[in-house]
Amino acid sequence: MKFASTRNPDLKLSFQDALFQGLAPDGGLFYPLETPDLRRVFESFNSRTSFQEIAAAMIENLLGSEIPEADAAKLAARAFPFSPELKTLNEKISVLELYHGPSSAFKDFGASFLASSMEYFLKGSDHKAVILTATSGDTGSAVARAFYEKENIDVVILYPSGRVSPLQEKQMTTLGKNIHALEVEGSFDDCQRMVKDSFTDRELDSINLSSANSINLGRLIPQSFYYIWAESRLRGKDTTFCVPSGNFGNLTAGLYAKSWGLNVDHFIAATNRNDVVPEYLMNAVYSPRPSVQTLSNAMDVGAPSNFERMQQLFSNDVEAMRRQIRGIMIDDEKTTETMAKMAEEYDYPVCPHTAVGIKAAMESSEKHLTVLSTAHPGKFTEVYKKAVGIDAELPESLIAVKDREKKSDFISNSSEDLKKKLFSMFG
Ligand SMILES: *Cc1c(COP(=O)(O)O)cnc(C)c1O
Repeated sequence: MKFASTRNPDLKLSFQDALFQGLAPDGGLFYPLETPDLRRVFESFNSRTSFQEIAAAMIENLLGSEIPEADAAKLAARAFPFSPELKTLNEKISVLELYHGPSSAFKDFGASFLASSMEYFLKGSDHKAVILTATSGDTGSAVARAFYEKENIDVVILYPSGRVSPLQEKQMTTLGKNIHALEVEGSFDDCQRMVKDSFTDRELDSINLSSANSINLGRLIPQSFYYIWAESRLRGKDTTFCVPSGNFGNLTAGLYAKSWGLNVDHFIAATNRNDVVPEYLMNAVYSPRPSVQTLSNAMDVGAPSNFERMQQLFSNDVEAMRRQIRGIMIDDEKTTETMAKMAEEYDYPVCPHTAVGIKAAMESSEKHLTVLSTAHPGKFTEVYKKAVGIDAELPESLIAVKDREKKSDFISNSSEDLKKKLFSMFG
């Protein structure tokens, strides 16, 4: 399979090149140029096929020209020592739990595959890569966990001092080995600026800098695997997926799986007040704008990057998009109500993002839907306590880091200081 840029369909890149480039040189996003018919592959899966087996088969079918069969199985095993789980809430709603990975959120699937495939391509070459990333909290921990102990790769994480939660900080600063945390005396915007400056600084070319950005193809492709896994368990039921969405990577991955022949009826895009996509589906006008803050803050995106990929997939045809996606907006009030209802009536605690999906599913008229559950409720202790009135249980991944010792280096908010630091570490 080859990949092009959403802004230049004539660009034909291998997966490996797209993976290390992250973003196309023209600022577009990489997308798959071909649409293989994989219906027979999907039919060969059943409820006993493991997630690792499905991942291995998909890697082989999609990327076989670059990752041969024997390697595909090894790569799948390395990337996915964890699996999704499917739960039945009631007759109408099933929940696809995607938070059983190392950082207890669905971004583990993308980050872990990204890390393992970079490691795979670097193996045997004498190249080393340095992943440079800025975080306001959540992505940093998923990236740190995903790249931990990967060979030939170092990770440098910049985070704003005093502005991430104590537990998020522990997740980034207690691993050590190839994971380096830099505590920036500044804001998240400073961190982002410093990372951006480093990527465009030609003096740093001798250090092989890469990004682990959420728009990387290496994070998008594996997100299609859990729709395929879920479908193999949902036979005999209607397969409509309800996806709590922010940057729309999760939903886009599902759309790709459907385009390859996966038996999916349609999708529901559930958003919080940042509802530019539901609005577009309603009145065919796309008006990206600055995000507003909500309780489901990982979905506070006012200009979702993956909208460009969605437009490409449907050839800018809003009618075609409407046939596959319906949008629903759920506000904070309904989100907290739903979190309380889930705990009290179902004894099933959910995070605020998952609550947006569950409420959207409850409001829809479908006979059966599967809601993607994107994070463990214990990652959002304050919001949870406010909504439900009691403390959420911490996930094991957080209990494990709670008492470990923080190791980070202070750095000013100047890009020059970051450059000096990078040279001292890797020069
Ligand atoms: C990132 C994130 C989302 C939104 O996913 P997108 O792929 O950006 O639409 C939803 N919930 C949680 C917990 C997240 O971290």
